[in-house]
Amino acid sequence: MDFIDLKKQYQVLGPAIRAGIERVLERAAFINGPEVGELEKELAAYVGVSEAVACANGTAALEMLLMALDLGPGDAVFCPAFTFIATAEVVALRGARPVFVDIDPRTYNIDPAHLAVKIEEVRRAGRFRPRAVIAVDLFGLPADYQRLEPLAEKHGLIILEDAAQGFGGRQGTRRAGAFGRAAATSFFPAKPLGCYGDGGALLTDDPELAGKLRSIRGHGAGRDRYEHLRLGTNSRLDSLQAAVLLVKLKAFPGELEERQRVAARYGRRLSGLPSTPFIPEGCLSSWAQYTLRVPAEKRAGIMAALKEKGLPTMIYYPRPLHLQPAFAAYGGRSGDLPASEKASAEVLSLPLHPYLSDGEVDSIAEKFLESLDA
Ligand SMILES: *Cc1c(COP(=O)(O)O)cnc(C)c1O
Repeated sequence: MDFIDLKKQYQVLGPAIRAGIERVLERAAFINGPEVGELEKELAAYVGVSEAVACANGTAALEMLLMALDLGPGDAVFCPAFTFIATAEVVALRGARPVFVDIDPRTYNIDPAHLAVKIEEVRRAGRFRPRAVIAVDLFGLPADYQRLEPLAEKHGLIILEDAAQGFGGRQGTRRAGAFGRAAATSFFPAKPLGCYGDGGALLTDDPELAGKLRSIRGHGAGRDRYEHLRLGTNSRLDSLQAAVLLVKLKAFPGELEERQRVAARYGRRLSGLPSTPFIPEGCLSSWAQYTLRVPAEKRAGIMAALKEKGLPTMIYYPRPLHLQPAFAAYGGRSGDLPASEKASAEVLSLPLHPYLSDGEVDSIAEKFLESLDA
């Protein structure tokens, strides 16, 4: 069994995807072909924002956002410590200071109460200006924007949404990708909406910001390709990936329902466990991962036993960012962010994708329960 089975999806969507790819090959507009603009329109409509800017990958999307908003040296950007490194890596790459914040142990998302504490700390220390917070929709569940928005407003912080895992998620009537000043998402193959290589997009309701992002995406282009208004980068989504995504986006609402089916079935089969995922009232997860917790000292043994039975499991993420060697210069210590550290020691993700049958889900759940008793 594959952890995320992309071959089954291809069996279903293959003919349409091949037809889309064929059209790109025949037209030979590999960069900036009509598929890219069409995809941007569809993405914006799906998320419910006015602007989508397709780009090379999710990391580049985040970095371009920081460039467009002039976040850099002297600026503090708050990030959860329990996430993929890209969230904070781009902050450091732009010369700004990532300030790590602990998570809510139930949702795994940034803890607004701890964010308030860290903002005060940075203010008092006076070395960096609090400017932005990058909220991550971890495992597919939108961050707690209802509490983040008033806090950001009070302190004049820009909210940026890292929706790399959140695409398809919802909070109330708003879809992931529609929160904050702008959102970055990723189309890495294993994400809820994935292409066949690297891809990403920026989503926003701010046309001026979108214009700046389009310019940055193409070396800071102005009125024409050889007028450069600013320093930018090369971060295009190619037409082939856009063609693949157009087909997959059409299938996405149905797949999202299948993800809910699988997660709900796991929930029923594992209902006796204290650590199954928590989805707050009014929220919908895109189930980028189905993550639960096991006792830290038993985790390696459980994973080995499941591997033996042909069941792949993963750890997202085994080490919180404040303890990563890459960020050692900031002096993070073990014990600083207890909820993130505990999550890193205990989490385990089970396979979840839209093409898992009920029987497969039952069998995975059964094997997992057996491994807990061993
Ligand atoms: C995958 C991911 C990214 C980066 O996306 P890429 O397309 O791989 O660059 C950023 N943030 C989070 C939370 C992710 O899961």
